[in-house]
Amino acid sequence: MNNHVTVLEIDGNAILHNLNYFKKKLNPETKILAVVKAFGYGSDAVQIAKLLKNKVDYFAVAYTNEGIALREADIKTPILVLHPQIQNLQSILDYKLEPNLYSFKLFKAFLKLADNITLKNYPIHIKFNTGLNRLGFSHKDIPKIITTLKETTQIKVQSLFSHLAASEDLKEKDFTINQISNFKQAAQQFYKYLDYEPMLHLLNTSGVVNYPQAQFNMVRIGIGLYGFGNDEEETNQLKNTHNLKSIISQIHSINPGETVGYNRAFVAKQQTKTATIPIGHADGLSRKLGNKKGIVLINNQKATIIGNVCMDMIMVDITKIECVEGDEVIIFNNQEMIQNISDTSETITYETLTQISHRVHKILK
Ligand SMILES: *Cc1c(COP(=O)(O)O)cnc(C)c1O
Repeated sequence: MNNHVTVLEIDGNAILHNLNYFKKKLNPETKILAVVKAFGYGSDAVQIAKLLKNKVDYFAVAYTNEGIALREADIKTPILVLHPQIQNLQSILDYKLEPNLYSFKLFKAFLKLADNITLKNYPIHIKFNTGLNRLGFSHKDIPKIITTLKETTQIKVQSLFSHLAASEDLKEKDFTINQISNFKQAAQQFYKYLDYEPMLHLLNTSGVVNYPQAQFNMVRIGIGLYGFGNDEEETNQLKNTHNLKSIISQIHSINPGETVGYNRAFVAKQQTKTATIPIGHADGLSRKLGNKKGIVLINNQKATIIGNVCMDMIMVDITKIECVEGDEVIIFNNQEMIQNISDTSETITYETLTQISHRVHKILK
């Protein structure tokens, strides 16, 4: 039972709003895969999956254990495991997860397991590397993949997919168009030699926004569900889903010359009132937010973080704020605050969201 007073409220209606926003953008027949890896971008994958299970066609997770957690919560929707390892393949079968087979080594290991238990048409996915150079087969591997597939009835290719390297960056448009065309060629080669047509999918959130002509049969939406589009204008159309809150544990009155926190990083120049808040770098707040770089909201007023961010706490300046111990503290409750925290932490919103640690209590509202 998690009773940490620092909570992440996940706004279920906002997630549904964001899903519908993308649905409206897409062709009506395009399927949607909701990406719930990394605990649903730092929230709670099980609660997100329960919310979305009848509204999307697929879920994707990065690692096998993330898929197992969904199955254990009785999620029956197909689950694509984007980055399985040979060591995980038995669990993938046990939990009816669908592996991305991205290399011959993995492919062969899976077929070997399948041989032992005689499967029929077990759904697998094949990933092509079209330029990201992260995971996936290359074009020259296609004939060998097809030969291997023709020798077995144990597995069936549910989809062929690839991933764009710079879908958010229109300066890389030529590169991206080339990736799209590489993917099309690979798919055509497959379709020519297989007697069935696996689904095709390529786009992530910013791909949907910038390259809707490449939506194929399905799109894979992650960050968009959680409130962030390709640019500010688009993000404004989306609703914020992650609200991070805490409370004031203790208030101190600091005399001029006294210091606050580790290494005595804050030195009071005048009489200063401080509030201690139970959230620190172990909860996902970067140390870069310390020493007056970051702010939180207390009773609608900005309170600056003073001194160093501790593992479990921050101290903020409340000299000019009317507040008492136990009052609510908002770390962020809109996309602008999340963006500001990301900028100050020298990172991107993906990292700010996924950094929110396991210690924080997650509540779907
Ligand atoms: C994480 C991921 C996505 C989702 O990307 P967003 O930018 O969050 O929409 C899609 N596809 C793959 C392969 C991924 O790893």
